[in-house]
Amino acid sequence: MIKETNYELIEKLEHTQSLTKEEFVTLLSTFDDDLRKFAAKKAVAVAKKYYGNKVYVRGLIEFTNYCKNDCYYCGIRCGNQNAQRYRLSREEIMECCASGYELGFRTFVLQGGEDLAYTDEIMVDLIQTIKRKYPDCALTLSMGEKAKETYQKYYDAGADRYLLRHEAADDELYGKLHPAVMSGKVRRQCLRNLKEIGFQTGCGGMVGAPYQTEEHLAADLLFAKELQPEMVGIGPFIPHHDTCFKDETAGTLELTLFLLSLYRLMLPKVLLPATTALGTINPTGREQGILSGANVTMPNLSPGQVRKKYLLYDNKICTGDEAAECRNCLNNRMKSIGYEIVTDRGDYGGGIK
Ligand code: SAH
Repeated sequence: MIKETNYELIEKLEHTQSLTKEEFVTLLSTFDDDLRKFAAKKAVAVAKKYYGNKVYVRGLIEFTNYCKNDCYYCGIRCGNQNAQRYRLSREEIMECCASGYELGFRTFVLQGGEDLAYTDEIMVDLIQTIKRKYPDCALTLSMGEKAKETYQKYYDAGADRYLLRHEAADDELYGKLHPAVMSGKVRRQCLRNLKEIGFQTGCGGMVGAPYQTEEHLAADLLFAKELQPEMVGIGPFIPHHDTCFKDETAGTLELTLFLLSLYRLMLPKVLLPATTALGTINPTGREQGILSGANVTMPNLSPGQVRKKYLLYDNKICTGDEAAECRNCLNNRMKSIGYEIVTDRGDYGGGIK
């Protein structure tokens, strides 16, 4: 009986793009493989409607692992004395873009810890330089919480998109994952500021983080419904050996895949990556992510010598590969499931209104 109700809930989500918190909790706490596959099939159909069998690719440049924050789960948190810190220079970042452009990337993502060495002046100059040199490319930033004026400067300089996972919409859970100086409210306000400024904005969080319940995940879904982000980044939590959560268990493949499908059904046009973390917990995690409704992959363009240093979690994949190898490997992986990686900025909505 319960099972049938759950199938109906998936159909309701498909048709109305919304469910109540209680309905999401029911789905998340009782789903099985059959229901997950049913949701995945529906989610893939929705993704295909807007994006066909195209997978967008983003070149990820991890430009600094210095961070002023001490998020309990993260390998590059400031309290980790064992992290070998690095910063990429403007020239090194431009070299990453050059080799990425050559490989067909038309979106670059600059991601890093919250590193105060990259002042507004430095960032504005970097953003302008990249956008002038590659006017046909989109530039995404993922560098944490900043004042609204700073976000505005980045936007005016030409940045197109901003990824800032809200991490946990529930304040109590947020408080268990972060030191007291950090606040979920501030983070959510940052997201609203980004939207107001006009960025294509991405929220999200980890799946299976310590203390996380189905209620928390349902609250995350409802927050995303309210924010209406253009992108949602979710991937499994994976423990890092130098954090307080080193002995915690990782999030599961099944729950992450199910959530990808729910996000796709709730936000039909959303840009939804099959993350590196998903590929880390399962050898075909990213392919399964696409087959659950995701439509983006973000291979690494960072220079070889720094890749092992941007370790947010243990056993991260592709840290020994060259950018070209990553690109080829992903091409083949996507081909093997009937999808095609495209050379395209890959904006929200795929050009379909
Ligand atoms: N400093 C930037 C970028 C953070 S790193 C910012 O604040 O947005 C990008 C994402 O990696 C984080 O938002 C977090 O959700 C994820 N992450 C960090 N540690 C992780 C871990 N141990 N397992 C899985 N994902 C993790």
